Formats: sequence, C-alpha cells, structure tokens
Amino acid sequence: MKRIDFRSDTVTWPTPTMREAMANAAIGDDVYGEDPTMNKLEAQAAVLTQKEAGLFVTSGTQGNLVSLLAHAGRGDEVIVGEANHTYNWEAGGMAVLGGIVPRVLPADSHGRMDLNEIENSIRADDPHFPRSRVITLETTAGGRYGIPLALDYLAAVRALADKHHLLVHLDGARVFNAAVALDVPVSAITQYVDSMTFCLSKGLCAPVGSVVVGTADFIHKARRARKLVGGGMRQAGFMAAAGIVALDENIERLADDHRHAKMLAAGLATIPGIVIDPATVYTNMVFFSLDESVALSSAEVAEQLRERANIWIGAGYKRGDRNFRAVTHYWIGEPEIEALLTALRGIDLN
Ligand SMILES: *Cc1c(COP(=O)(O)O)cnc(C)c1O
Repeated sequence: MKRIDFRSDTVTWPTPTMREAMANAAIGDDVYGEDPTMNKLEAQAAVLTQKEAGLFVTSGTQGNLVSLLAHAGRGDEVIVGEANHTYNWEAGGMAVLGGIVPRVLPADSHGRMDLNEIENSIRADDPHFPRSRVITLETTAGGRYGIPLALDYLAAVRALADKHHLLVHLDGARVFNAAVALDVPVSAITQYVDSMTFCLSKGLCAPVGSVVVGTADFIHKARRARKLVGGGMRQAGFMAAAGIVALDENIERLADDHRHAKMLAAGLATIPGIVIDPATVYTNMVFFSLDESVALSSAEVAEQLRERANIWIGAGYKRGDRNFRAVTHYWIGEPEIEALLTALRGIDLN
C-alpha cells in the first residue's frame, strides 16, 4: 500500500521536473561564489521578494538563525511571539549561539502580538537593560491554524519598528501560502520587513533548503553567519536547481492545497466523533480533534490509520491527547483525501 502522508508539507519529495533540473544543473563552488545555478536562485528570490539580495541556507531554522545573528549581537533583545517557530522549535539558537535575549510576548488566535504590548516591551537606553533590536513575525502562523498575517498588521508593526528604530524579521517559512491566500504578490508582504526566510522544502516541494532575503549589506553579514554555523556549501547548485523549479512552477498551485484542505475539513465535519470547525482552515493546515465521548486517544487513532491504510497524520504528542493536524501538499489530491475520510469512518470512534 502506498504511504499517504498528511503529517506535514515537509514530507514532500521533488517533482519529476525538479529531479531532471537537479540532474542537469550547472554547478561550481558556491563558497567561492562560483555556482551559477545557486547565483541564479538567490537573484531570483531577491527579485521575487523585491529585496536587494538572497542567500540559500540549509533549512528554515538556519535561515532564521543567520538572520538574527546578522541583525543582533550579544545582549541584544529580539521580540518574538510565544507560539513562533523561532522561539519554540529552533533549539534556542538565538540565545545559544548569538547571546541574543528572546523577549517573548503572548500571541492572539491569529498569531499576532498585541501592538501596545510590543511597544511597551521596547527598552529605554539604560545600562541595566538588554538592547531592543528586532521584532520577529511569522507567516503563515504555524502555531495558529496556518493563518496568514494581514497586511494591515504587518504595516502597523513596520510603523512601530520605524518609530523605535528596530528591525523586522519575518519567518516566512510558508509565506507563499500566505500570499496565495491573501491573493497578493509576495512583495506586498515583504515590503514591510527588513529580512525574511522562506522554505523551498515545504509546499514548494524542493527536497532541501530555504532562502533568506534582505539588503545587500544584511546578506553579506548573513553569509558570514552561515559560514560560522557550517552552512557554507560547495556544489550546492543541485539543490538550487530544485529551488528554481519550486519558484517557477509551484507557487500558484498552493491554491490547490488550500482548496484540498477545505475539502478535507468539510469531509471530517460529517464524521461522528470528530470535532472540527471548517472556518479555522485558512491555508493548507487542518486541525481537528476527537469528541469527549471517544475512548481512543488521537495517537491511537493515528496508529490505526497507519496500520490499516498506511495513512500518516499528526497526532498530539502527550498521552491522552485528542488533537490532530493534517497538512495538504503537492502529493495530496482528492483520492488521498477520500482515502483518509474512508479510513477514519472505518475506525470505531464510539
Ligand atoms: C518549517 C518551519 C521553519 C523551518 O524549519 P526547518 O525544518 O528548519 O526548515 C521555520 N519556521 C516555521 C514557521 C516553519 O513552519
């Protein structure tokens, strides 16, 4: 039985066009700046996001890390939302490797920090305090249903940052999902930030890598930080070739993933024992849970799906958890959605 994997859009493998582009890529030593395919990808990312320069990195985690290392130093403070990847899922890199102090603020149901709370958290110039330096945002908000940050919120954060001479970094791991959902070019989002990291390896389907974009001066610093953390790569054009196909072919099709997520949510809503609010589906993520009446935990249901149908979904980590996450992506179409719904209907949820 073919594996059907809803756990994340990170599980996507390269498309046939990508494999061909990788096999035929012109390459060189990228640490010497001589990989033509890498140079092309970085330039293309800069044009697309309307920034001066781009830098390929091994992962979104490395992209956020080198961005913060470029923007801030020891004793500087980064304002970050409590649910953000940069704070929760990156092994504390900014503090461990940069001596940067995270200033964690609560986030609302859309993943937004309150503007007044951001402003109140900005430090006076006083030797007792860390120095406020950067505000980091995340779109789509992975910890909040995959919601895209609204443009007026981004504009308001930009205005606040300008008022207080702070920088804005965007963790745009899924920024193209946000752009497609908002029906705007990605530059409508990036105009409000000084720097951004985005993932090639999620919904865009490339096997590896992310790109950081910003001013030429910032990218120069980020390149040094990338070297520092061992991220200088040699004949990396093989990966860049897949990234170029990702940008050329796979942005607009993210709308299919969003449509499929809504379709999945509508189907889940008809299954007794499943609790879901289809209105919480904004992009390619579907969050749902088990009704109180169901004896099984979400981990047990996920295990049954794997055993019976080779279908993999995200289930709560803790014992007794009742929540699930299903993410749609390039390799999930209508037959895969039907397969999940049919398999769930076959499990005794009474
Ligand atoms: C996936 C993701 C990242 C980066 O993850 P890597 O696995 O390091 O590529 C960063 N931020 C968010 C919000 C993500 O979803």
